[in-house]
Amino acid sequence: MTSHRSLDDFASAKLDALDRKALRRRPRETRHSDAVTVERDGKSLINACSNDYLGLAHHPEVIEAAREATARWGTGSGASRLVTGGHPLLFELEARLAAFKGTEDCLVFGSGYLANLAITPALAGQADLVLIDQLAHACLYAGARLSGARIEVFRHNDTAHLAELLSDHRRSARHAMVLTDGVFSMDGDLAPLPEILALAEQHDAWTLVDDAHGIGTLGGGRGSAHAFTPPATAPLQMGTLSKALGSYGGYLCASHTVCELLRSRARPFVFTTALPPASAAAALKALDLIEADAALSARPLALAERFCMALGLARPASPIVPVVLGSAERALSVSRELEARGFLVTAIRPPTVPEGTARLRITFSAAHSEADVDRLAASLASLTETVEAAQ
Ligand SMILES: *Cc1c(COP(=O)(O)O)cnc(C)c1O
Repeated sequence: MTSHRSLDDFASAKLDALDRKALRRRPRETRHSDAVTVERDGKSLINACSNDYLGLAHHPEVIEAAREATARWGTGSGASRLVTGGHPLLFELEARLAAFKGTEDCLVFGSGYLANLAITPALAGQADLVLIDQLAHACLYAGARLSGARIEVFRHNDTAHLAELLSDHRRSARHAMVLTDGVFSMDGDLAPLPEILALAEQHDAWTLVDDAHGIGTLGGGRGSAHAFTPPATAPLQMGTLSKALGSYGGYLCASHTVCELLRSRARPFVFTTALPPASAAAALKALDLIEADAALSARPLALAERFCMALGLARPASPIVPVVLGSAERALSVSRELEARGFLVTAIRPPTVPEGTARLRITFSAAHSEADVDRLAASLASLTETVEAAQ
């Protein structure tokens, strides 16, 4: 049993170190009763940190679509699509997403995280160069590392730095890729996509934009590319079905040739079980609802604007509003105080965000009422004043 003991000793020493820095994490039991209300420890809270931006995870028509698909086709898909074949709903979803994003083809994955573990390693290897924004999502980094390519990090949204790195390193690499979030998940700002795409074009580099937070919330729901005029569309557009679409899964929209290559070579497509039919049916229904009602996808950003105006914060670019508080302890304490006032806003700590920038990450949903937003702004204003006074 020595190995069991040494393993537990190792884990316990690691946990102690996390506790000392207020960085230990524990998922807490939480019931999501509707699109914005959660119950925790017997208390009802307004959720202001979910990525279900349109409240579609609780929409009756989305639920019914998932229920019907499950009743008809079962709960699981049984194997990889290459083994047992894919359900027609998956092919339908891919055609629908490609049309929505204006690409030739699309490939659906088990999650957004898996999509990013698939895409970069299928396209880049040791002789290649990957340039990645400093604040890009953890799974873009994971894909970059898995590819074995040389990785150069450019300062957040700094296109001059990206240009410099391209000039210095592009020539010695066979292929190059540029990886960025479209909407940055912890800051809510947008990547300067037109400039990034122009630079990538100049240097024959392939741009992969992760639009996990853009689909359903920006550009009429079509994503951050469509927040620009003309649209700034990268050749590789990935995203998730798990946030504004209220379902589960990930996707890549790209040319037919690129998608074909990934169908044969992307390991997290080949060696993992396909999405269950219910997830595809739910995402398809979500796309129907988004396309039918332009006001739906515009509402989360409008509510974020209302909130920022009330607090005198800069105008937000997306429904994500960071309130940076500095230390992990301070972020935890303000989060606890908000919970006492009826709001769920989880503190975001390193390593999710850089050291010294622990924060509240507030997100707005189409399902919030104006009154919810105003009460949250008032609560936060009074709390940060007391916190400031106490420092
Ligand atoms: C959430 C997120 C992902 C992962 O998507 P999942 O479907 O939740 O795995 C990828 N990229 C970004 C920027 C995200 O915020």
